[in-house]
Amino acid sequence: MTLFIDGQIGEGGGQVLRTSLSLAAITGKDFFIDSIRGKRKKPGLQRQHLACVKAAAAACGASCEGDTLHSQRLAFRPGKIKAGNYFFDIGSAGSCCLVLQTVLPILFHAGSSSSVVVCGGTHNPMAPTADFLIKSFLPAISRFGFHATLNLARHGFYPAGGGRIVARVNPVKSLPRKLEIMERGNLVAKKGKILLSKLPKHIAERETKSLTRRGWFSPEEVETITVTDSQGAGNVVSVILDYEKITCLFQAIGEKGKKAEKVASEAHEAALFHHKTKTPVEKYLADQLLIYLALVSEGSVLTSNVSLHSETNMMIIEKFLPVTFRTARTSGGWHITCSRA
Ligand code: ATP
Repeated sequence: MTLFIDGQIGEGGGQVLRTSLSLAAITGKDFFIDSIRGKRKKPGLQRQHLACVKAAAAACGASCEGDTLHSQRLAFRPGKIKAGNYFFDIGSAGSCCLVLQTVLPILFHAGSSSSVVVCGGTHNPMAPTADFLIKSFLPAISRFGFHATLNLARHGFYPAGGGRIVARVNPVKSLPRKLEIMERGNLVAKKGKILLSKLPKHIAERETKSLTRRGWFSPEEVETITVTDSQGAGNVVSVILDYEKITCLFQAIGEKGKKAEKVASEAHEAALFHHKTKTPVEKYLADQLLIYLALVSEGSVLTSNVSLHSETNMMIIEKFLPVTFRTARTSGGWHITCSRA
């Protein structure tokens, strides 16, 4: 039976498609999606989304109809998941990390290790950056038996792109009975990391000042990295909070016309907000962990916020897997619980 997915559901963006692709490959269920990214100004498959379709199809030998640029409908019939050496070029500055978000869950279910090279953007707005995946996401999922390593071979900033991430994905051996992230422990280190490529130095200096001005960061805790390997200009401010039990990363991307102080304060404010909540999982990591929570079938995470993105992801996951999600607000934050349906 083919599952029907309404691409306008919930958030109505690319996540509906990516989660459907990953879970169709893992469960072997065919799906048909229409109104792809129906709530976006430019609906349909943009290059990054098409790269996700192609990547998922390659990883599981799927046959597709509608896998063309700007298509708003897609039929996806998965075959068998195959380990291999994969190369995906988005052909734009679209996010490599979102392509990886789609294929990693699939390749964790292959019979042996895979290598995946993705070319495109590595530090994009509205997507996890390569640093986020390396520092926050991968360590979080590795606690539950999903092991992959990522190497940022070349930075790619919007709009020039040209970045390259090399991933090694190991098949999952045995899943834990439960996935639980309910505590974070004490803050053991905090860092500000500024990436600057082909832009004047004063941008990083002003960002450093902005991070240290409010007294939460000392100048020694802020590092500037001058990126020399990227094709185009770029600026990213990341704030990394290392708690005893989890690392959280907050990022802001510089854009033309956006003041350096604003870039720094966005990352800083997001980190400070999260720190005050005392929860272990911030809202972006929360939506990215849901598929793993569901693959394990049982577990819970404590997060600062249940985003519309997370709610949408839960709806899609429940269509593919026999699990039920529940969310509950408590004095300590939001509990997201997953159990067998
Ligand atoms: P669309 O253009 O259709 O909105 P998209 O495919 O570019 O879609 P979304 O569907 O919005 O992207 O999904 C974005 C993903 O990026 C989510 O998994 C979200 O957690 C992640 N993300 C967005 N911003 C951040 C951030 N600041 N830090 C970490 N992850 C982020």
